[in-house]
Amino acid sequence: MSQLEIKNLHVSIEDKEILKGLSLTINQGEIHAIMGPNGTGKSTLAYTLMGHPNYTVTQGEILFKGQNILELEPDERSRAGIFLAFQYPVAIPGVTVANFLRSAINSRRRAENPTDKGITIAEFRKMLTEKMKMLKMDPSFAGRYLNDGFSGGEKKRAEILQMATLKPEIAILDETDSGLDIDALRIVSEGVNALSGPNLGVLVITHYQRLLNYIKPHFVHVMMGGRIVESGGPELALHLEERGYDWLREKAEEAA
Ligand code: ADP
Ligand code: MG
Repeated sequence: MSQLEIKNLHVSIEDKEILKGLSLTINQGEIHAIMGPNGTGKSTLAYTLMGHPNYTVTQGEILFKGQNILELEPDERSRAGIFLAFQYPVAIPGVTVANFLRSAINSRRRAENPTDKGITIAEFRKMLTEKMKMLKMDPSFAGRYLNDGFSGGEKKRAEILQMATLKPEIAILDETDSGLDIDALRIVSEGVNALSGPNLGVLVITHYQRLLNYIKPHFVHVMMGGRIVESGGPELALHLEERGYDWLREKAEEAA
């Protein structure tokens, strides 16, 4: 069964249609990249997958492990195994990275079972130490206040650590827009590469071809005008670097 199946998805923001019939299937163990020019609806797709209330699905389906997730609240989607890395993470002064992760784990456990006593401190420390070691993170990072004064790279590091702790089955990383320096790119890529495996499906959204020098996707898709207009292997990303998106405009218009 496919992990994530998006069928003919139409999404509007304030009555303006942004996604216009997008279809995409991601299986476990696969890394997919969506690339495309600015304003084409890439972030809209990410937010819609997570269930952001501003995005209205007017047509189509999103199935996760065969279940229609459009009826699920964002926290239920997260518990089902979908992870979205936010493009603009919020700072929480006074809450350390470790505390944040521990409450995330505990709220998930309590949602599954209201009488759950939560993860013990010892158990949590052990798990966190392992994950941070795997991601080559400095242990002191866990004691810092979440995103408070974090550099772009550190925000990404926190995000990847959150992903490692929550162990999603599908991770959606929206890496578009500004502020993604080489350091941050490298952190995200190394994190994704370290966590990827037969049980994780990954969707990386980017307009930086550069990211794909670090993450090796199995499939590359080009999104234009609210739909996927071209799909291929990793070579498609190289092709885009050389030729840009213009050669696909006609195709995008034809489909419209
Ligand atoms: P991308 O991530 O590909 O750059 P977005 O999904 O952010 O594109 O945006 C797609 C389109 O939706 C753009 O035309 C943008 O102006 C519009 N849009 C995005 N968010 C909103 C919003 N909250 N209200 C109205 N229009 C929006
Ligand atoms: Mg975007």
